[in-house]
Order: sequence, then C-alpha cells, then structure tokens
Amino acid sequence: MQNSEIKTTCSYCGVGCGIIVTNDAKNGVTVTGDKDHPVNKGMLCSKGMNLHYVVNDTSDRILYPEMRWSKSHPMERVSWDTALDRAAAVFSAIIKKHGPDSVGFYISGQCLTEEYYLVNKLVKGFLKTNNIDTNSRLCMSSAVAGYKKTFGEDSVPIAYDDIELADTFLITGANPAWCHPILFRRIEQHKEKNPKTKIIVVDPRKTDSALAADLHLQIIPGTDIILYHALAKRLIEKGYADNDFIKNHTENFKLYKDLVLSSSLEKASKLCGVPLNDIKLAADIIGKAKGFLSLWAMGLNQSAIGVDKNTALLNLSLLTGQIGKPGSGPFSLTGQPNAMGGREVGGMANLLAVHKELNNPVHRKEVADFWGVDGISEKPGLTATEMFDALESGKMKAIWVICTNPLVSLPDSRRVEKALANAKFVVVQDISHNADTSKFADLLLPAAGWLEKEGTMTNSERRISYLPKGINAPGEALPDVEILTRFAKKMNFTGFNFNSTEDIYKEYCLMTKNTTIDISFLNYNRLKNEGTFQWPVPDYGHPGTPRLFTDKKFYTPSEKAIFNLPTAIENTSEQPNDRFPFILTTGRIRDQWHTMTKTGKVSRLMTHIPSPVLEINPIDAYKASIKNGDIVVVTSKNGTVRVKAKVADTIREGVVFLPMHWGKQLENDLNRTNNLTNTLVDPVSKEPDFKFTTVSVAKY
Ligand code: SF4
Repeated sequence: MQNSEIKTTCSYCGVGCGIIVTNDAKNGVTVTGDKDHPVNKGMLCSKGMNLHYVVNDTSDRILYPEMRWSKSHPMERVSWDTALDRAAAVFSAIIKKHGPDSVGFYISGQCLTEEYYLVNKLVKGFLKTNNIDTNSRLCMSSAVAGYKKTFGEDSVPIAYDDIELADTFLITGANPAWCHPILFRRIEQHKEKNPKTKIIVVDPRKTDSALAADLHLQIIPGTDIILYHALAKRLIEKGYADNDFIKNHTENFKLYKDLVLSSSLEKASKLCGVPLNDIKLAADIIGKAKGFLSLWAMGLNQSAIGVDKNTALLNLSLLTGQIGKPGSGPFSLTGQPNAMGGREVGGMANLLAVHKELNNPVHRKEVADFWGVDGISEKPGLTATEMFDALESGKMKAIWVICTNPLVSLPDSRRVEKALANAKFVVVQDISHNADTSKFADLLLPAAGWLEKEGTMTNSERRISYLPKGINAPGEALPDVEILTRFAKKMNFTGFNFNSTEDIYKEYCLMTKNTTIDISFLNYNRLKNEGTFQWPVPDYGHPGTPRLFTDKKFYTPSEKAIFNLPTAIENTSEQPNDRFPFILTTGRIRDQWHTMTKTGKVSRLMTHIPSPVLEINPIDAYKASIKNGDIVVVTSKNGTVRVKAKVADTIREGVVFLPMHWGKQLENDLNRTNNLTNTLVDPVSKEPDFKFTTVSVAKY
C-alpha cells in the first residue's frame, strides 16, 4: 500500500470498529474511523485512534527466527528452514516418545479466523491431540457454555443496531465505558436523544459506566445469581413475565419459578449489599421495558460459577420474552477482536469447527472425514490453565504459544513461570519481544501483525469483516498461516496445500454449509466489495442475519429455550477471612490492552494511568492507615504485589481493584496482578475466577 487508503477493522476489542488506513512516505501509516462502517460510524476510542503508533514503531518487533540448541545455549538467529525443521523434529520426537497429548498449542482471540481454523486442523486433525486452547478461555468460555445450555448453541442473538431500538439496558459485570467504548458511546448517544431510556449498572465499582447509569446496584462480588433471582421473583410477582412466550417457547419454567419464588428479596438485598428498593426499582424498569438488552462481560464470565451466572442472566430475557425482537436480547461483550471467529472454527480444547462438539462421535467423524484424516481423538484437550498445570507436572513436554502472553495473563503467574521453566520445548510465535513469555522460548518465531497480512474476523454481534494486507511485515516476519503451513509440510502432513489465505477461508466456508453458522455463500469478493456481514449468510446474495431467533425457534432438540437452574447460587471461591480480609477484583483500564505489548509502547496511552494502582475504599484505607498515593503491599496465598494506593469511594468497602495489564518486563516483578490471583476455575467452562481472590493490604 503506497500513498493509498484501505478499509480494515480495529485489532483490539470485540466491538470491531471500521478503520481507514492511509500510508504515505512522509507520515507512514495513519488511521481514522470509517464513517460508513455500521459499527462505529466514524468513531474510534483512544486505543483505536492510536493504532498507527503501534504499526509505525517496529523497535520491539521480532525480525527473524531465533533458537537455542539446548537450555544452556544462548538464543541465536537462524533461518526459517532451520527453525521449522527443529520444531518438526522436536515435536515428532516428543510425540513418538510420550504420545500426542504430551504437546499443546495455546493461541489467541486475536488470531484471524483463517489462522484459528488452520491451527485447529493441524493439531486436532494431524497431531492427533485436542490440546489446543485459546486465551478466549479466560474471556468468553462461560458465556459460550451459558448460550449452549440455554439456546442449544453458542449464539449471540442481537445486533448492535438493537442499541438504538432498546429502552432499557442492564449492564452487569462490565464496564463498557472503558472496555467497549464505542458501543457505550452509542448507548449514551441513544439516551441523549431518548432521555427516558434507562441504564441499570451492576458492579462493585462506581465505574464510568455506573456513573452514566440511572441506577447503580453496587453489588458484593459473587452474589450476581442471588440478585438475578430476586429480580426474577419481583418480575413474576408483579405480572411482568411473558407467559405466552414462556409457554410456547421455553422449557423448565416451573422449576425455575419455584426456585426464584422461594427466594427472599430482603435476604437478597442483605446478601448482595444492594438496597431493597433498588432491587424492586430495577425489576420494575426491566418489567416495563419495551426493548430490554442485557450486556455483560468478565464480571460474570471470570468466575468459579461463571456459567451459572450466565444462565441466570439469560433466564431474565426468557422470563420477559425479550429475545428475537428489535431492541431486545442478551448481549455478551467479547473482549478480543476475534474471540467469536475462534469459537466458529472450534478454537477451544472441547470444541470442533462449525459449532460441532468434540464429545459427539458423529461430529468427530464428520470433521475427520472433511479433513481426510482417520479420526479425531475422543479425549478432551487440556484447557488453558490445565495445559500449564501439565507442563509444571511434566505430563506435557512442549507448548507452542501463538499471539498471547500467558506469563502475564494467566492466574497465579509464578506457577506459569514454573511451568514454562519446566517445559522441554517452548515455541513462541509473536510480533513483539515485549511479550514476557518470549523469555522462556526455545524457539522464537516472528509473526506478521495487524495490517501486515490478510484474513477475517468476527466481532461481538457475529459480524464478519475482511482485513486486507496493507504493508509488508518487518524483517523476516511471516503471516501465522504461512508459518503453520510450512510447519505442517515439515511434518509431512497432507491437507495443507493452500496457495493463499483465501484458500483456507474457502475450505472453512465449505464446512459451514447447512449449519447454523452457514457462510458458504460469503466469499472474499463479497466481503471486499460489499463490506461486513453478520452470520449466517446461507444463500447467494443473502444480506446476512442481524438478529437470531426471530421465529422463536432455538437450537435445542425441542426448539425451545431452556430455563437453567444453577448448581451453586453463592460464589464458591474462598471467602474473606482474618488473614485475607479483602476481595480482590481485577480488570482493564481505559487506555491499555491486555498485557500492554502494543498499547504499552504508545506514550499518549500511558498518560491516563501510567502505573498500576490499587483502588481501595476510604474506610478500609483509614482502618489500615493508608493514604492516597502510599505504597501498599497486597498479598494473597499465591504471591505479592507492591503498588500505589488510590483511595476512592468508587469501590465498595471490603473490595479492592487492580488493573490486569502490567507484566514483569514493563516495570518490575511486583506490578504483576496475576502474582495474586487464585487458580479456581468454573467446573464447566474452565474459565478462571479472576474476579474473586482474597487478599490482605498493608502500607509498605
Ligand atoms: Fe478498537 Fe474496540 Fe476502540 Fe472500537 S471500541 S476502536 S474496536 S478498541
């Protein structure tokens, strides 16, 4: 791309904003919001509008393959052939000696769909292990399981355009004002034009989203299900249940109704720490809504009872019949740009492509036949945290990490350090030397980044967009699909004779035919010429599907949605005690992304919050003689963090907050929040319990 313009999609969050990129000899790459894009209509948040700095600054980039011949040798520059010959030789030798399950791949919701598809085919179809998981496990796996239990498949029913058609928003366990800013801006604009629009926010913190709300329920962490059941009880008792919808389109309502009616609003108020009248008011607002949207993110998903929290929230949409019609429905906010695309191609240890299930022998055979392989292992693969446990214990010997930085992002970082140190062979395929995990690499592979390769992504509303290549990658960096294809050929695997990324896309599209996510008629030409499409796109000329379930038919065997009852109502995490009296909750800040390998190098993004701070309530701070700006030591069972205190009434008493972004490399060992976090996971989704770790806080 020389002195030209291309249209593409932002590489950060799951909102999926359209960006126009220009490149000229004088200014390099610059970006602006795409006014014609249906998602952002020209707007960009601070991260998106600074993307060009990340692209233009290549000082941190990995420029050529690097390798060490043994743990005692230094890393040295090698050719691509040498690097991939070694990778193939080591993986083959380990698999021969210890079996296919002794290796694993840990990938990312930032991978493009074609990359995701290819690596899943490689691992599940040809390496014969299901040990491939993604950092979406830390993000959306509870929502995926919740959708499947309720609707029969992982299906986000809404379109962003429902925002402008809704009159009531329940934002729970999410801070879209900071984490999904353009969507939140659309909600704010809608409210500005329609002042009767109601926003209810459920969050232990007074976030910017909560400050914009009509009603903020400042809940005690972990009590979400109790609150949703109390709302349901009130909705039923006040006659707000949609009895026709419930009777004709749902199952299991009687048991659900009995359960929620047996709860007590007064007790819920006490347990949740939310005034009784606020619970009643929230229920009455929802009950009177013409269009009710529930939006949620990590506050629900990252929990030891994350799936139950999801189904309990989905039940409110079923109870009120607010689904499959304009301006209504449940709307999970995806953290990463292509977590949805990854789910479509089976990018998790328990999934297969096109929403097929690994535990279903018919599905395994269908996928194996499509790939021309003699079968897919029935053994469930190890999930994100399980893979690192297996490395630590020695059960798994080698790991290939693509486009993610587990040393900063997984819970209990010191355990991850031990796991990586114990691994016989670590491959890190990334764009940046700034990823802490790269320090453990035996083989470092330089990948092309955003704008340096082509492919597709799917955003939070099922919208698929095509991202063209605009510039050349620096040094010898290659697109991930090229690296993986070359590796597959070194392994002598058939089935990887793709001439282009488009060929990979075509193969995947063919696989979707006659499924609920059918995009068999959505080719690169349509994406390039007509723009973005929401799946399914099942016919030639089909315009895409903004809203699912408009016919009230769900993907369950009975075609009815299911009211699920939780296995646990109260949080199963370890509760605060004398030694660790605070609940630590973690999350994002406005201007940073994940582990800061990209946003951390943009100086103007570092000005908002330049270093990690512990948010603590003034009463808690007073009791511990902590003043604003003091250095404090935060301690959990797993480790320690030392940061400045921010004393503020934005957080409720007994709860403290730390941002999740900082790693060891950027500042020091004691800035890394995941030194502290507990290793509990949801029993179904295996998503970590990032939002609830008991800690102590003391002045340093
Ligand atoms: Fe990018 Fe998300 Fe910001 Fe849009 S809201 S510009 S997708 S980071």
